[in-house]
Amino acid sequence: MKAFQYTRATTQQSAIDAIAKPGTKIIAGGTNLIDLMKRGVIAPDKLVDINQLPLNSISVNKLGHLHIGALALNSAVAEANLVKDLQPLLAMALNAGASPQLRNMATVGGNMMQRTRCAYFYDTTMPCNKREPGSGCGAIGGYNRMHAIFGASDKCIAVHPSDMCVALAALDATVTVSGRKGQRLIPFTEFHRLPGEHPEMDNTLAAGELITGISIPNNNFAKNSYYLKIRDRQSYAFALTSVAAALEISNGTIKQSRLAMGGVAHKPWRLFDAEKALIGKPATEESFKQAAEIAMQGAKAYEYNKFKLKLAPATLVEALKHAAGLV
Ligand code: SF4
Repeated sequence: MKAFQYTRATTQQSAIDAIAKPGTKIIAGGTNLIDLMKRGVIAPDKLVDINQLPLNSISVNKLGHLHIGALALNSAVAEANLVKDLQPLLAMALNAGASPQLRNMATVGGNMMQRTRCAYFYDTTMPCNKREPGSGCGAIGGYNRMHAIFGASDKCIAVHPSDMCVALAALDATVTVSGRKGQRLIPFTEFHRLPGEHPEMDNTLAAGELITGISIPNNNFAKNSYYLKIRDRQSYAFALTSVAAALEISNGTIKQSRLAMGGVAHKPWRLFDAEKALIGKPATEESFKQAAEIAMQGAKAYEYNKFKLKLAPATLVEALKHAAGLV
């Protein structure tokens, strides 16, 4: 590993000033960053530890909006009664991620900033446009079993690895970021980006901006929501496909729905058209199958991930059945 400087930021402004300099990275839980540094995927000159900043609160405002600081631990958020009562979908998604030990170290902001787990990205002997722009993509003609079926480009077909982010995309969360120009809000669905011509850019954070927290608006989804993750083993594995499903049901009819998929795209994949198709429909398996058909429009598989074309709609139907209380 390349030698680097390490400092602790004691104020938000000092962290923002520090990361404005090229070659400087923020460290919080370090659960992905340290792996990347050990493997030589990234080699920062300086790490700025932000763990002393007061950004770990979990609270609800008068409107019922849930606010979570960027440094709140994944395990603390998943176990918070406020989260379990108001946004159980988020707690479910968090508990589906990584392992208890990792959830005890990983922060909400770090979870959002984690990099893809594409094996070619981590193997510095292989071409990878995300790690080294212009070098090519080892996965397109390689072993692409874990890769995207939506929104990929001819430069990159990687998927975003987070479970938490799939729930936050479904729940219309907002990200608060601070930089030298002040504070701004980013809709969660616009925080991560598709690869396009620039797969090296995972998100829409500007240089020198720091995530300070997320907010989830009040909703009526607590009773009928479910996070379903399909993976190769029951723990400590990334999603082959996952679905965050949230429904508001009145007298058996769907009034509102929010749906997002994980393991299928470079960002949490929100299913706006399928959501619309469910409104006013009975909460039945038949309605869910129709929504799944709509959700899969435009899907494109590669040599080794064709199974996702069947697995993704099946995951969606199953998650909706759980959310609706049919199973
Ligand atoms: Fe790199 Fe993306 Fe290709 Fe993986 S899919 S090798 S991350 S460019």
